[in-house]
Amino acid sequence: METKAGKKVFNGVAIGKIHFYKKTENVIVRTKIEDAEAELARYMEAKEKAEQQLGALYDKAVAEVGEANAEIFNVQAMMLDDDDYKDSIENIIRAQHVNAEYAIATTGDNFAEMFAGMDDEYFKARAVDIKDITNRILTILCGNDGSSEIGDEPVIIVADDLAPSETVQMDKSKLLAFVTRLGSANSHTAILARTMGIPALVGVQISEEWDGKNGIVDGYEGKFIVDPEMPVLEEYFKKKLQDEEQKKLLQMLKGKENVTKSGKKINLYANIGNPSDLVSVLDNDAGGIGLFRSEFLYLEADNYPTEEEQFQAYKKVVETMGSKKVIIRTLDIGADKQVDYFDLDKEDNPALGYRAIRICLTRPEIFKTQLRALFRASAFGNLAIMYPMIISVDEVLKIKEISAKVKNELLAEGIQIGDVEEGIMIETPAAVFESENLAKEVDFFSIGTNDLTQYTLAIDRQNAKLDPFYDAHHPAVLKEIQMVIDNAHKAGIWAGICGELGADTFLTNIFIKMGIDELSVSPGCILPVRKAIRDAE
Ligand code: PEP
Ligand code: MG
Repeated sequence: METKAGKKVFNGVAIGKIHFYKKTENVIVRTKIEDAEAELARYMEAKEKAEQQLGALYDKAVAEVGEANAEIFNVQAMMLDDDDYKDSIENIIRAQHVNAEYAIATTGDNFAEMFAGMDDEYFKARAVDIKDITNRILTILCGNDGSSEIGDEPVIIVADDLAPSETVQMDKSKLLAFVTRLGSANSHTAILARTMGIPALVGVQISEEWDGKNGIVDGYEGKFIVDPEMPVLEEYFKKKLQDEEQKKLLQMLKGKENVTKSGKKINLYANIGNPSDLVSVLDNDAGGIGLFRSEFLYLEADNYPTEEEQFQAYKKVVETMGSKKVIIRTLDIGADKQVDYFDLDKEDNPALGYRAIRICLTRPEIFKTQLRALFRASAFGNLAIMYPMIISVDEVLKIKEISAKVKNELLAEGIQIGDVEEGIMIETPAAVFESENLAKEVDFFSIGTNDLTQYTLAIDRQNAKLDPFYDAHHPAVLKEIQMVIDNAHKAGIWAGICGELGADTFLTNIFIKMGIDELSVSPGCILPVRKAIRDAE
């Protein structure tokens, strides 16, 4: 038995035989030709056939995965007909007097390299499409079918990489899951896997020797198990059954309201940590984003992200979400999230240390840069800002002063800003007990139960040894939540929960009775929580 880790693309469990998918390589040899015009005619004929194939793939994809996802084949058809791409092929054939295959392969390589080197993530990802269309014409010219055959039995496809056209061409009834070495969780193949509802992992260290062996794809944990032992197999058979039952029922809740039997409506939003999570936010029908952890911008960089870089990232998220609310949390670096260039001292108690708003208030240049980017992005959608790790009214007053200054500066520069709600996270007992006064200063409260539980129970959330002592339903935490909701309502503001406890469906009914206005949970938990809300009195 072997277990490999991978990046999760779509959750679910698949059990079955592994099929190692190998593309038949088109072997391209450079040959001199006499008649360039005849060679050009061969290219044009193959191009026309490729266009017909893409048209047929578009129709198949529309029927199977919807118009939006099928659009990629229209994009590919446009790429095939792109003037620069066509000119390059024609020039090589004419100038070098070489065969069409060589001219197409060379053009494909050059264009794919050019796209891969672009900064814009969208264009970067198009390198795969260039390779895909190039391969399509070459396959037509070489007379290959382009892929290894899948048998009659449904299989887990293991491949180095999969192009969108390969994914759509496969017979869905024979597909249990995808596991690839390359590809991002954001690629079209990943999106298609999600839309088809097929468990998938990318970034797995694969081996050709697995072909024909049994495998388990655990899309929840990001695990691929090859040749599982009997007890593991039995455990996963049970998991799979439960998973299928759940999914079937939950899918029916898409498009439905988050409303209790007695008619109380709850805002149900998603927590995300990266713009790439937006796909699953939309897939799972979230009403907005209740917590966007902005740390990814800092954790993925080698230096402080600039205002412009941040602005572009926030703008993309708010634009994608349209009129739906997007609550972006300001930087929460420190404790378990360390970034070298921040040059933070080593601390004995990092969870109680120099982190989050404490950094922002003592290093205002970092804070102001982020706020400028956020307010600028607010003109492009429905953006709200929330501040983490608050312990006092004094801190909030300082934040408001800085925020007002930033807004005034932007307005003086003639930059448009939206109507931005500003709220705070309640994740320290101090904030709970000060919530009556804090509520008078802010637009909303979002309860961060992960940290609130840690600080209330004095249990380090990072220390697995303390799990037996960790009671997520501790009455002290529940009393704190009630107090926060009551104080919010007294001041006429709303209160939500964005910590993991918000997705605990055993508590949904209790939270509703407490008067909660919003729950923000990871995208995969939206539909289960919607069900719990609809089941509540
Ligand atoms: C929390 O503390 O509950 C929270 C949502 O923030 P994070 O998990 O990012 O600390
Ligand atoms: Mg927190």
